[in-house]
Amino acid sequence: FLPHLIASLEQVDQTYIMVKPDGVQRGLVGEIISRFEKKGFKLTGLKLFQCSKELAEEHYKDLKQKSFFPKLIDYITSGPVVCMAWEGVGVVASARKLIGATDPLQAEPGTIRGDLAVQTGRNVVHGSDSPENGKREIALWFKEGEVCDWTPVQSPWLRE
Ligand code: GDP
Ligand code: MG
Repeated sequence: FLPHLIASLEQVDQTYIMVKPDGVQRGLVGEIISRFEKKGFKLTGLKLFQCSKELAEEHYKDLKQKSFFPKLIDYITSGPVVCMAWEGVGVVASARKLIGATDPLQAEPGTIRGDLAVQTGRNVVHGSDSPENGKREIALWFKEGEVCDWTPVQSPWLRE
C-alpha cells in the first residue's frame, strides 16, 4: 500500500521533443521516435508540421540575443519538423540524456546526437530543458485536442 501511495505521488512530467528539419530530410524520424518509445515513455502528441518564423522565434525566444539566432530560425523553418509530446516520471531530464550534448561531437556515443549528427547547427533533435518549458512548448506547438491522454497496456510492466 505505502509504495503504491508514494509512487502515485511522483510527479509526471511532459516534454516537447522535435525532430528538426535535418532529421526529417535524413530519414531519421522513425529512429528518433523509437528511442523514446523503447525507453518506455508515453507518446501523447505527434505531427509533421511546417512552422512559421514567428513560432520558431517564440520557441527560441531565450536565444534572441545570440549571434546564431537568425541562422537558427532559418534552420528550424527550412522544412517540416516532427513535433512530439512525451510523458512520464523524470521524462524531461531523461530525454535530455537520450538526446545528448548540444554539440554532437561532444555528445556521448549511444545518444541521439552522439550517434546521428556531427554539428551543433544540424543537431537533429530538440528536447525541453525543464518541466516548465515542457509545458510551455507543448502548449506552443500543439492545439487543443491534439494531445491525447491514454493508458498504454504496458504500463504495469514498466513501473512497479
Ligand atoms: P539544446 O537545448 O541542446 O538544443 O541547446 P540550446 O538551447 O543551447 O540551443 C538551441 C539550439 O540552437 C541548439 O540545439 C542548436 O540547434 C542551436 N545552437 C546552439 N548553439 C549554437 C551555435 O553556436 N551555432 C549554431 N549554428 N547553432 C547553435
Ligand atoms: Mg535548449
